[in-house]
Amino acid sequence: MKICRFDDNRLGLVSGDGNSVADVTKIIDDLPAVRWPRSNIDPFFARLPELRAGIEALARSASWIPVADVALKSPVVSPSKLIAAPVNYRAHIDEANADKGINFGTTVKSIDEYGLFLKASSSIVGPAEGVRLPPLDRRVDHEVELVAIIGKEGHRIPRDRALQHVAAYCIGLDMTVRGPEDRSWRKSFDTFAVFGPWLVTADEIPDPGDLDLSLTVNGALRQSANTSALIFDVPRLMEYASSTYTLYPGDVIMTGTPEGVGPVVAGDVVECFIERIGNMRVPIHAA
Ligand code: MN
Repeated sequence: MKICRFDDNRLGLVSGDGNSVADVTKIIDDLPAVRWPRSNIDPFFARLPELRAGIEALARSASWIPVADVALKSPVVSPSKLIAAPVNYRAHIDEANADKGINFGTTVKSIDEYGLFLKASSSIVGPAEGVRLPPLDRRVDHEVELVAIIGKEGHRIPRDRALQHVAAYCIGLDMTVRGPEDRSWRKSFDTFAVFGPWLVTADEIPDPGDLDLSLTVNGALRQSANTSALIFDVPRLMEYASSTYTLYPGDVIMTGTPEGVGPVVAGDVVECFIERIGNMRVPIHAA
């Protein structure tokens, strides 16, 4: 099942071919009203399995509209944390070490030496909003990544049970200012976490370790790989992350980017693709 958030907080069921959407916003009435203080748990993702029948029922009586006519927003809205993996593809480590514009004179190591990092949740947008470059004279790179969205709370989750905690997947574009500063600063500018074009429930992706992913800029191919080349695959990442943080429904794990990262400038159009999820078109706006 593909589910999108669109326009002004509408919820949509997306057709299997990704071409049309049915407005199923009424299902949100089944979620508990939010009362202060807000929980770490996103009730939509915690209850997604039980909401599915209602979503399908609403879609049967809805009118379908072309996806091209709606503004696609991030399917993830306010995770308690946005967890991300650094250098998690071997060929990306090699390119980072070959390019001073990426490594700034340091030796780029591997994920088991760095651990994970966090991006600000306030950096999240959807493809309709696009990326707004910061007013800095600095290189800003694209990084296409498979994103896992947590559906079941867990701490110290063993890798052999990890996928049971995933509610859905989507495409992530991890935008990055290159430079010597900490990742949590360079990757947390507003609009630097683009998620979309919709979520795909985990039952449609039984093996997140075998998905083609690619990225083009203005139609030119920059990144092309398969998630089988991940150093820490999704279950291992979840084991690693949950050894530190409790994972809550709605939390996001960005799994890292393959080789081919490079700069974007205002006016560029970035298109991301991940097999079984779809295409996400992201405009790059000036500061
Ligand atoms: Mn990244």
